Amino acid sequence: MKRMLLTVAMALAMTAPSFAESYAPTICPAPAECRISATDYSPMKSVVIETSGGSGAQEWASSHLRLWYGEHAPEIRMKRFRGDMAPDAYTLDITGGEVRIAASTLGGVRNALHSLRQIAIPSRGTMTVQGWSVPEAEVKDCPAMGFRGVHLCWFPETEAADIERMIRLAAYYKINYVVIESWGTFRSDVAPWFGWPDGRMTKEELKRLRDIAGDLGVCLIPQLNVFGHASGSRIRSGKHAVLDFAPQYQPLFEPEGGWNWCLSNPETLKLQLALISEMLDAFGNPPFFHIGCDEAEAPSCPDCIAVPYHELVVRHLTAISDYLKSKGSRAMMWHDMLLERGDQRWKGFYANGTEYTAKALEGLPRDIVICDWFYGPVADSYPTLDFFNHQGFDVLSCPWDNIQGIRAQGRYASSAGLFGVLGTTWHHAYGTKLAEMFSQLAEACWNRDPKFSTSGYNSMLLRVATHLRQIGWDMKQTEYRHTGWYDYQVITEPDADRTLAP
Ligand SMILES: [Zn+2]
Repeated sequence: MKRMLLTVAMALAMTAPSFAESYAPTICPAPAECRISATDYSPMKSVVIETSGGSGAQEWASSHLRLWYGEHAPEIRMKRFRGDMAPDAYTLDITGGEVRIAASTLGGVRNALHSLRQIAIPSRGTMTVQGWSVPEAEVKDCPAMGFRGVHLCWFPETEAADIERMIRLAAYYKINYVVIESWGTFRSDVAPWFGWPDGRMTKEELKRLRDIAGDLGVCLIPQLNVFGHASGSRIRSGKHAVLDFAPQYQPLFEPEGGWNWCLSNPETLKLQLALISEMLDAFGNPPFFHIGCDEAEAPSCPDCIAVPYHELVVRHLTAISDYLKSKGSRAMMWHDMLLERGDQRWKGFYANGTEYTAKALEGLPRDIVICDWFYGPVADSYPTLDFFNHQGFDVLSCPWDNIQGIRAQGRYASSAGLFGVLGTTWHHAYGTKLAEMFSQLAEACWNRDPKFSTSGYNSMLLRVATHLRQIGWDMKQTEYRHTGWYDYQVITEPDADRTLAP
C-alpha cells in the first residue's frame, strides 16, 4: 500500500510542476522570453535599474512606484547601463524579492516596470495591504515592431475619462501610438461651428491627455476626415455634426447627405488646412496625422462630377500631405477607396473605390502611411497589404474586434516586415469587446507569434479587469459608471433600441 502511494506521489510529483506552472502569473503582452514562478514569492525589497535613460528614468520609476505602492514602495538604486539593447527592450530579473531591471532607454524602463506591476501582488494574510510580494522571475523582452497603435473614436457620448482610461490601458500594454478621431467633438477656435456644440474634446482636455500620454510613452495622433465621413457621425445615425445646426456651410459638402467634402470648392482645402494646423498644435505637433479617407461616396455636385474625380482626389490629398510635411508630420490614410470594388484580386477584403478613386493611387505621394483595415478572421494571405507594400508605401495592418483576426494580422505584419499594426475599436470600445481588443491587439503588436492566452476566456477577462482597475486607482476614480467596461450592469430603459444607431 505504502509503495502504491509512493508511486502515485511520484507520478503526481512529475505532473505537479505543470499544475503549478499552469497557474503562473502572466504578463500582457506576453514577453518574448519569460519564466515566472507560481509559488515562490518574496516580499519586494528593492528595485535596481540599470539604464542609460538618464535622470528621466529614475524620476519616472520613483514617481510611479510611489503612485502604485504608496508607503510600501521599494527603494530604487540606479546603475549605468553599458550593454546594447533595442529602444523599448528590457530584462527583468527577480530573486528573493530583489528586482533587477536593465534597459537602454526610458521606454524600456517603463515597459519593465509595467511588467513588474502586472505580477506584483499584495502580501497575503492581512486585512489590508501591508506590503508587496513578487515571484521569482526571469523576463527578457523586446517588441516585434516599432509602430504599435490603437485608433480611438471620441463620440459626443464619450467622456474624457473614457479616453484617458484607454490611453492608460494602451500604455500599460506597451502600445506607443493612439490615434484619436473626433466625431464632431473637437472644439475649434478657427471654426467654432465645426462640430457639435459643447464638444468635450477641448484644447485644455487635450493638453491634459497629452501630458498623461507623454509621461506614459504614448504619442497621440489627431485625425480629420478630409474626403468622406465629413458628417462626423455614423452614417446609420442620420446625423451631421456641422449641417444639422449650421446649414449655411452646405457648399463645403456634397449635396447628397453632406457625406463627402466638396473637393472642387477651394474653401474646403483652406478650412481643412486651418483645422489641421489647429489640431497639430493641440496635439503637440506629432509626427503623424490621420486624414481618414475611407468609405467616401460618389460626388453629387455638378462641379465635382464635371472633372475626373481621381484628379480632384490626388490634388486635394497631395496638398494636405505637402502641408503636413512642411509641419514635420506625415499623413496616414485608410486604404479602401484606393482599391476598386469588384476587382477579383481583393475578393473577401475591403475595396470601396470606383475605377476613378482607385486611379488616384498612382498619383499619391509615397510617404503617406497606408492604414489597411481588414475585420475578418484569419486569412490565408493578405493581398491588399502586399499590394500597398509593393507600391512603395509604409503599411499598417488594421484589425478590429475579431480575436483570431487580430492575432493573424499581427503575425503577418511582422513576417512581411510591415510598418506596424493599428488596431481599431470604433463604437465597440466598451464591454468585453474592449478587453478582447486591447489584450489581443497588444499581443499582435508586440509578438511575432501571439502568446497571451485566450483559451481561458474568463481568466483573460479577469486579468484585463484587474489592469483596468489598477488604472482606475491611478485616476482616483470614484464613479460607478467609470468602473469595469460597461456603464451599467442592467439596462432599465424600455426603448433602448430606439435610442442607439445600429
Ligand atoms: Zn463638389
